Amino acid sequence: MCRLVFALVPLVLLALSVPGHAQTGAAGGIGPAPGPVRVIGGQGAGCIAGAVALPDTAPGMQTIRASRSSFWGHPDMIATLLRLGRLAQAAGLPDIYMGDISGPRGGPLRGGHVSHQMGIDADIWLDVDPPHPLRLVAEREAIDPPSLVRPDGRAVDPARWRPGHVTLLRLAAGLPRVDRILVNPAIKLQLCREVTGDRSWLRLIRPWWGHASHMHLRLRCPEGQPLCVQAPPPPPGDGCDATLDWWFAQLDLPPKPPGPPRRPPPLPAACQAILGAP
Ligand SMILES: [Zn+2]
Repeated sequence: MCRLVFALVPLVLLALSVPGHAQTGAAGGIGPAPGPVRVIGGQGAGCIAGAVALPDTAPGMQTIRASRSSFWGHPDMIATLLRLGRLAQAAGLPDIYMGDISGPRGGPLRGGHVSHQMGIDADIWLDVDPPHPLRLVAEREAIDPPSLVRPDGRAVDPARWRPGHVTLLRLAAGLPRVDRILVNPAIKLQLCREVTGDRSWLRLIRPWWGHASHMHLRLRCPEGQPLCVQAPPPPPGDGCDATLDWWFAQLDLPPKPPGPPRRPPPLPAACQAILGAP
């Protein structure tokens, strides 16, 4: 059933695609590489052919900061985000704000984003305070959701944390083919404390630096993509354990002196053709 839905979605998405988004990719205005969908590489060095665009507005969701974000992805990713919008709307949340997915052909994004290169990563803002009235795309440039985490990094800010954040993260973790969802360690800690009943979904919510006002949702490699490098799955359990404590222990360490600038890993050879194609 799922496979059938995903098979039909690209046709619908092509019809829904917003031409304005074609100008927002890292590739400086070029569109997606034509042909069948191909996802190549791994986190940090990859690309995508046959990407489709997320519409700037759909039930339960709006893209924001279009000039800074890229809204191209694998059809599974786009279908996943549209589905999350509908689920959030049904749960009574205001429109979700969507951020970066990938450029039209993937590859390195502007702004130092290391992942987001293969059309299977998406940033979803953790802003659930209504109302989110439907504004023109240009008016959404100024939307900048605040951090949910205290300045010391050890807990969420109780003045900003809402039950709706738990709802949104739970809905996202329940979507098909989600590999993991990265959030600030303080947000993960809050879920560990707060979530009762079914806690199995917490396994997919993993701590990472930053991510204090958005979640980073990554899908598993789509089916039929042998050149997509799949990361190992998250370890079993809810992750409310020593692996989470490690992140807070880092806050007690003296700051490290800056090392030499890291070189990004080389792109797979097959990506050169995709990124360089006319
Ligand atoms: Zn991200």
